[in-house]
Amino acid sequence: MKPIVAIVGRPNVGKSTLFNKLVGDRVAIVDDQPGVTRDRLYRETEWCGTEFVLVDTGGLEPRNNDFMMSKIKQQAEVAMNEADVIMFIVDAKAGVTALDEEVAYILRKKNKPVILCVNKVDDFLAQQDDLYDFWSLGFEHLMPISAEHKSNLGDMLDVITENINKLELQEEEEGLKLAIIGRPNAGKSSLVNRLSGEERAIVSSMAGTTRDAIDTSIEFDDNKYILIDTAGIRRKSKVEESLEYYSVLRAIKTIKRADVCLLMLDGQEGITEQDKRIAGIAYEERKPIIVVVNKWDAVEKETMTMKHMTDELYEELPFLSYAPIEFVSALTGQRTLRLLEHADLVYGEYTKRISTGLLNGVIKEATIMNAPPTRKGRLVKINYATQVSSAPPKFVVFCNYPELVHFSYLRYLENRLRESFGFEGCPIDIMTQTKN
Ligand code: GDP
Ligand code: GDP
Repeated sequence: MKPIVAIVGRPNVGKSTLFNKLVGDRVAIVDDQPGVTRDRLYRETEWCGTEFVLVDTGGLEPRNNDFMMSKIKQQAEVAMNEADVIMFIVDAKAGVTALDEEVAYILRKKNKPVILCVNKVDDFLAQQDDLYDFWSLGFEHLMPISAEHKSNLGDMLDVITENINKLELQEEEEGLKLAIIGRPNAGKSSLVNRLSGEERAIVSSMAGTTRDAIDTSIEFDDNKYILIDTAGIRRKSKVEESLEYYSVLRAIKTIKRADVCLLMLDGQEGITEQDKRIAGIAYEERKPIIVVVNKWDAVEKETMTMKHMTDELYEELPFLSYAPIEFVSALTGQRTLRLLEHADLVYGEYTKRISTGLLNGVIKEATIMNAPPTRKGRLVKINYATQVSSAPPKFVVFCNYPELVHFSYLRYLENRLRESFGFEGCPIDIMTQTKN
């Protein structure tokens, strides 16, 4: 996942101008949804080999001062939580304003790298005295720039990419990383609170990890886990949730870092489109996944409720037929500890290797029971198979006509592998290749 660099600042300081200069003639995506107009403006770009996603946090219509103030604060909060590096833009010609100070106050609260870009320095010699005041905003990096004349943008980008590259070197805490993903209100933070509040849990707050300040590290029976709560902040504003791009981005970021994903659903509401989308991300990222149906305490149960819900979930998530489903209550703690055990188990499956001997026994039997169908008059013959990697488990099947092996036949082989070797909760990749 590419790091996110957010452009933040009050209106008219030159954010859009800068954004457009930095992304060149690549057309910016402007989403014209009512209410969140221009809130989602982002492009992938790169500087000297460092790639990143540049986000313009939006043009704000200055309806009135109070309104604007609160919008800008929200925007700064969002950037704080989602961005890896923040470009805070101010206007050299206007000097330090009260709004700038408000934004600076928010940005200083966490220790994410902030590059203070003092824009509209069109003539550095004439304007250098105007710069001093901006140091009072309290940031380590101050870059005088002119977006319009493209001056000093290279130096500014150097500082940005330096900070990005520093981030990537940061070591991550040890432990099985569990991403708790799902819609707002599914109960993600409740689960984190529940697990970290268990009597036997040893909790260490992880200060200092810039990338995600909300990781919770816990220890159970000598096993370490890092709970990554995509809620990010415990109390989130409506506005923030409406920033769809950020919530998807956040999910992707979290999933990429995870060893195992826990897809949390609200048992009272069943599965929604948003749940499916998030599940789809975990699937595409080839991460192991456990579906967690939460609020089980509040679900009215009749005989077979669990069974019916299970059937329904697999029907709605056909691509996740390998994912186990757990019914829990973050509120009462019912079966929540079991999630940790289950995650360990699934991760073991994800990382295991099958010996070539065992594997070929199973493949051979599978092809005897059900030979690859003849296609275009040609007989497909499978010679042997091997596991080429784990996490995710990846197999190569060598045969005479790889291109003739139909998807449905690979599906059949996959099912055979699962029957023999498990791989519960894990995606499996099977590729065909010519033997040579
Ligand atoms: P935003 O509201 O922060 O996105 O600001 P805009 O990008 O719309 O710019 C506000 C105004 O500042 C526009 O009139 C720009 O032409 C002007 N502007 C932007 N960058 C510069 C600059 O480097 N120098 C000068 N003199 N004007 C600039
Ligand atoms: P998040 O947005 O996914 O982090 O969800 P929260 O953890 O903030 O929970 C959203 C709401 O659901 C809160 O009011 C919780 O008290 C409630 N909730 C969470 N887990 C459960 C549960 O297992 N049972 C019940 N009945 N309510 C729950």
